[in-house]
Amino acid sequence: MNYVIIGNSAAAIGCVEGIRQLDSEGSITIISDEPYHTYSRPLISYLLYGKTDEQRMKYRPDDFYEKNGCKTILGKKTVDICTEKKQAILEDGTQIPYDKLLIATGSRPFVPPIKGLDQVQNQFRFMKLEDAKALEKALTPDSRVLILGAGLIGLKCAEGIRSRVQSLTVVDLAPRILPNVLDEQAASIVQKHLEKHGIEFILSDSVAVFQAQQATLKSGKKVPFDVLVVAVGVRPNTELAAKAGAVCPRGIMVDEHCKTTLTDIYAAGDCTESIDITTGEAKILALLPNAYMQGECAGLCMAGGQKYYNQAIPMNAVGFFELHIITAGNYGGEEYIQLDESGYKKLVTKDNLLKGYILVGQVERAGIYTALIRERTPLDTIDFELIKQKPQLMAFSKVQRAEKLGGAKI
Ligand SMILES: Cc1cc2nc3c(=O)[nH]c(=O)nc-3n(C[C@H](O)[C@H](O)[C@H](O)COP(=O)(O)OP(=O)(O)OC[C@H]3O[C@@H](n4cnc5c(N)ncnc54)[C@H](O)[C@@H]3O)c2cc1C
Repeated sequence: MNYVIIGNSAAAIGCVEGIRQLDSEGSITIISDEPYHTYSRPLISYLLYGKTDEQRMKYRPDDFYEKNGCKTILGKKTVDICTEKKQAILEDGTQIPYDKLLIATGSRPFVPPIKGLDQVQNQFRFMKLEDAKALEKALTPDSRVLILGAGLIGLKCAEGIRSRVQSLTVVDLAPRILPNVLDEQAASIVQKHLEKHGIEFILSDSVAVFQAQQATLKSGKKVPFDVLVVAVGVRPNTELAAKAGAVCPRGIMVDEHCKTTLTDIYAAGDCTESIDITTGEAKILALLPNAYMQGECAGLCMAGGQKYYNQAIPMNAVGFFELHIITAGNYGGEEYIQLDESGYKKLVTKDNLLKGYILVGQVERAGIYTALIRERTPLDTIDFELIKQKPQLMAFSKVQRAEKLGGAKI
C-alpha cells in the first residue's frame, strides 16, 4: 500500500501513527511546503518568549520518520491532485503516486481588506515557525507593536513578545478578548491579568485606515506603531481538495471515517469541518487535539480499519503569564458558576448532559469535564453535585472509572 500525506503537522502525524497501528509495511510519503521537521505550532509564541527552542518544539523526536518508515519531501508545495491517475503533483512537476491520500493542509491567516494595509512595511502573520522568526528579527526594545485580533493567536503572540518591546496594543472589533472562547466574566479576568503585564487593549473598535506607521481606528483614535501583526482569524486550506472535486462547504467535508467525497482521499485537521457533538453542527474546529485525533482516525481507516471520529468538540487549553484557561463545548443551557480567589468556573448543562465549561485559574482535572461532554454521560448516572464542586473520579461508578483512565496520545 502506498500512502501519501500532504501536510506535516498534528493531523499528518496522527495519520502516520494511525496507519502504523495496522500496517507496518506500506510506504508512507509526507509532503510539506514547510522545510522543517514536524513541530508543535502552538509553541511558536514560546519560542519568542524564550521558553523553548527549535529542538524542543519538535512534535516528535528526530528519528520519528525513520522509525515509522516515512519518506519526507519537505519545502515543496503540492499544487494539484490528479484523481484519475491517483497522483499528487508538486510545484516542480514531480508526480507522487498514491493508493490512499490524506489532505492535512491546515489553515492560513485571514487578512482583512483594510485601506492602506498593503503599504505597511513591517507587517507579519503569526501561524508558522517562519513567521515567528521573521517577527523576531523585526523587534527591538523600542518597538511599538500593534496586534490586530484578540483571539488565541493574537494573544499568544502578545504574550510571547511583550518583554522584548516597548509597548504592545491589541485592537479587536469584539467587545471582549477571546470572544469565541470566553464569556464576559472570564474575559474580563483574563484581560486584567494581561493588562497587569503591560498589554493594552482597545476593544469594540477596528482599523479604518493605515497611513505609514499609524492606524486610524473607526472611533477616530490613532495608534502609532513600528511593527504590525495581523491575527484576526484563519481560513482552511481547501483549494487542493476543491480543485480535485471534493465537496468543501467551508472546510473540506469528511464522513465519520474522515473520508472526503473523493475515492481513496481522506482529510483531517484544520482544513476540514467536523460535527461538533455539543450542537450537532458542522464546524471548523481548528484545534490541535482534534487535528491529531482526526488524523489518527483517517490513518486507521486508510489502513483498512473501522475507526469512527465522532467525538469532536470545541476545546481550548491555553495559558497567559501563568494564568491557565481551559474551555470546552458550548455555553447554551443552565449555568453553574463558581467565582473565588482560586479562579472562575462555569459549567453549562442541558438535557441531563454537560454541554460546556470555562475554567480560569483552577484547571486541574478538567479532563473529567471534557470526558463527560465527549461521552455524553447522563448526569443522573453520576454524582454530578460532587463533580460540580471538584471534578474527581470517585463520582463515577467503578466501571466508568476504569474507562476514563484511558486517553488519546496527543
Ligand atoms: C500561535 C498559535 C497558537 C495556537 N495555540 C493552540 C492551543 O493552545 N491549543 C490548540 O488546540 N490549538 C492551538 N493552535 C492551533 C493548532 O496549532 C492547530 O489546530 C494545529 O496545528 C492544526 O494541525 P493541522 O495538522 O490540521 O494543520 P497545520 O498545523 O496548519 O499544518 C498544515 C501543514 O500543511 C502544509 N501545507 C498546506 N498546504 C500545503 C500544500 N499545498 N502542499 C504542501 N504542504 C502544505 C502547511 O504549510 C503546514 O505545514 C495554535 C495555533 C497557533 C498558530
